[in-house]
Amino acid sequence: MTIAIIGSGMSGLACAARLAAAGRSVTVFEKGRGIGGRMATRRAESGFQFDHGAQVITGESAGFRAMVEAARRAGAVADWQDGQGRTHPVGTPGMTALAKFLAQGLTLHQGTDITSVTRDAGGWRLSSDQLLGTFSQVICTTPAPQAMRLVGDALTDTVDTVVYAPSLTLMVALHRRIDAPRTQTNPTNALAWIAHDGSKPGRPSETCWVAQATPEWSVTHLELSKDEIAARMLDLFLTHHGLDATDVAYATAHRWRYALVTDALGQPFVTSPDGTLYAGGDWCLGPRIEHAWLSGTAIADDILHSA
Ligand SMILES: Cc1cc2nc3c(=O)[nH]c(=O)nc-3n(C[C@H](O)[C@H](O)[C@H](O)COP(=O)(O)OP(=O)(O)OC[C@H]3O[C@@H](n4cnc5c(N)ncnc54)[C@H](O)[C@@H]3O)c2cc1C
Repeated sequence: MTIAIIGSGMSGLACAARLAAAGRSVTVFEKGRGIGGRMATRRAESGFQFDHGAQVITGESAGFRAMVEAARRAGAVADWQDGQGRTHPVGTPGMTALAKFLAQGLTLHQGTDITSVTRDAGGWRLSSDQLLGTFSQVICTTPAPQAMRLVGDALTDTVDTVVYAPSLTLMVALHRRIDAPRTQTNPTNALAWIAHDGSKPGRPSETCWVAQATPEWSVTHLELSKDEIAARMLDLFLTHHGLDATDVAYATAHRWRYALVTDALGQPFVTSPDGTLYAGGDWCLGPRIEHAWLSGTAIADDILHSA
């Protein structure tokens, strides 16, 4: 039995790690250059670094917490005080550290955009710009709209009730430290969150900040160019802190079209009638890393228990 997993976000890696630990032959395909999906870390010029996706790790379920504690023991997770009286685990030296922890020992092909998944007598054929192979089972862990395009026809359930809010995110490095709170929730009408990213443990530069626009501002400005998004969000950030353009060493923006699940499916995964194809991800259960982990591990358990 060979298993292909599409996507190296938390759901894909959690699934792959559990299946590999049980001795299954698993190959993970990731379209991006890096792994981790929305649990993302951007490394920019001059040593600047930003968590421009997920900010902190939260979770209640025992299995998820045990995984996070194992990552902590391995040095991939540490606590961060957010300045609002809360302590959160975060990946260190960046949020992708948690993905790298889970990916240890896995067979992973990055920069491989899966463009088709088709059935033939031998199983499921996966292709990018070339045929990658035929697998007994395929697990698609992309965001729901992408999963529908790729494997939707083969699934028993439709997932088009799933809804996401987008998030436009600013990454800015300043020339100097400023006296501002480590985190600010809803600091302006347009900004939902500002974090002093450089204050997280193990970060290379203390002057890095991340700001996320509100869902409303993100929807309104979603189709602007990234340069225009960066310029407008930088203006909001600087005005809020009483700074000006001369304070800025670096700024860029990221457009998360499928950022935070607002309406989840309500079940941990969907399958094909014969149980050889699965789709899952945070969108099955909720808006957080933990939900992605729960979906990915539920798929792995289903495969292991039905064998
Ligand atoms: C701005 C932002 C802030 C957030 N803040 C938090 C937070 O503080 N705490 C929290 O718990 N959660 C947070 N989240 C949510 C969290 O990041 C997600 O719930 C979680 O990372 C989703 O994991 P996933 O594996 O389901 O999906 P993803 O991380 O989206 O992984 C899917 C992967 O599939 C890959 N892929 C897509 N199509 C293909 C293809 N055709 N071929 C190959 N690969 C493909 C993608 O490149 C991606 O790597 C935040 C998200 C965003 C965007």
